Amino acid sequence: MSDIAIIGGGAAGAALFGALLSRDASANVHWVTGSTPRIGRGVAYGTSHNHHLLNVRAGGMGLYPDADEGFAEYGARNHAGARPTDFLPRSLFGEYIESQLGKRIRNAEQRGRRFAIVPATALGIQASGSGYEIALDNGGTVSAGQIVLALGALPPRPLRTVSKRALGSGAYVLDPWSLTTRPAHPRRLIVIGTGLTAIDTLISASIRWPDVELVAVSRHGLPPFVHPALPIDPFPRQAELNARLLACDGPAPVLAEIRRTFREHPHVDWRGVIDGMRPVNAKLWQAFTPRQRKQFLRHARWLWESARHRLAPQPAEIIQQLRDEGRLRIHAARVLGVDGAGPLDVTVRSRDNQLVTTLQSDIVVQATGLDTAAAFAEHPLVSGLLRDGLASPDPLQLGVLAEPDGRLVNAAGQIQPGLHAIGSLLRGNLWECTAMPEIRGAADALATLLSSPCVGHDERCAVLAAS
Ligand SMILES: Cc1cc2nc3c(=O)[nH]c(=O)nc-3n(C[C@H](O)[C@H](O)[C@H](O)COP(=O)(O)OP(=O)(O)OC[C@H]3O[C@@H](n4cnc5c(N)ncnc54)[C@H](O)[C@@H]3O)c2cc1C
Repeated sequence: MSDIAIIGGGAAGAALFGALLSRDASANVHWVTGSTPRIGRGVAYGTSHNHHLLNVRAGGMGLYPDADEGFAEYGARNHAGARPTDFLPRSLFGEYIESQLGKRIRNAEQRGRRFAIVPATALGIQASGSGYEIALDNGGTVSAGQIVLALGALPPRPLRTVSKRALGSGAYVLDPWSLTTRPAHPRRLIVIGTGLTAIDTLISASIRWPDVELVAVSRHGLPPFVHPALPIDPFPRQAELNARLLACDGPAPVLAEIRRTFREHPHVDWRGVIDGMRPVNAKLWQAFTPRQRKQFLRHARWLWESARHRLAPQPAEIIQQLRDEGRLRIHAARVLGVDGAGPLDVTVRSRDNQLVTTLQSDIVVQATGLDTAAAFAEHPLVSGLLRDGLASPDPLQLGVLAEPDGRLVNAAGQIQPGLHAIGSLLRGNLWECTAMPEIRGAADALATLLSSPCVGHDERCAVLAAS
């Protein structure tokens, strides 16, 4: 069976769907897009708030490597005064995705390319004959020889320190993007987390409720570092540095090497050095042993994430202003417990002096980042795949076990024919695979792999192998 199914209607699904449609293959492509009303935008680009900005410059964003119009050009046409070096609204990138998708769909229709967009949620996948059958929440099924999971982050799980009472109170918000639809007017709002999603949440709350008192709490109290207004020159000795990094044994020597570079080149902007590591990040991660990966996650992840996934200058200015005006406090503290029926009591232990205090808050928002713990996720499709042994969880709970090209590894430790993933489910293998520059490259490579006759359950492989 040569049909291909993509499950997930976000930007990764859109990038792959468009890449497959542009190829002249006979396979019918089914795109199972879930319940999203705006296909292709997903969580990141579905926002309608103009203050939610991209954290990649316009020139670095895109959907296909071979798009007929890049995002920077689209931005210049549709957003007054936009330059390729600007950090533009995420909603504009959402519009760009829709326009690019529309073009590929029209072109595919003219060429008679077979495809179907299926607005349903996939509940389970069963092996069936030479392929698989996907059960949908609308009672239908889709049959395919090859399936790509483009599911994005898994549903967030509440922190273990949050009581059942607090969870049931309605004052504890697990989905930060649902916050601004709340009718209540809070006096104090606490955000757990200080990463990019936390920053978006704080800015949205400050606009929606101008007199709300905002508090953000995370273990290190470190908001993301900030991009400079203009792009940084590349570090001239990056290639040498990257070669030295690849020769390091584990995260500690890698970090020591990076620090040495900063010391020896004090006039070089450190952000350029970190950005220049992009081509080797996946290789470094793959070379770490499981113990070294654990060490990295425990001791360096917080700093790496802040330095690598930086904030655009405009939101950084807003955050600074909120802090200067005393409307926002950021605490370095560990959350020991969240309890109550609303308002909630949030008990924290300060990192500086170990003092334990309890703050009351009308709303508490959990914005602790991407959840990729497949083994614990309340996601029927993923749970079913693990239960049936068609996939296996990454031992560090960073998605599922897979090859670097996205082919899933089953419970027997073998490649599961015809099952693939793209995006955050592959964190365990690739570490950095969630931003558009990585996603569009991965989608293009996967489209090439899926369009070749020798993947998955395809019976033509046996014929070719025998010839
Ligand atoms: C707030 C935010 C801002 C970001 N900003 C940037 C940025 O500026 N630049 C950048 O490069 N990257 C950014 N990123 C990274 C971002 O993750 C990627 O750019 C991209 O949006 C990921 O797309 P995705 O399709 O993998 O995931 P998602 O956008 O999460 O889409 C996955 C989709 O699959 C659906 N789905 C899940 N399960 C099923 C199922 N069983 N059946 C059917 N459908 C299902 C979900 O409902 C969802 O619609 C940002 C991420 C976030 C969260």
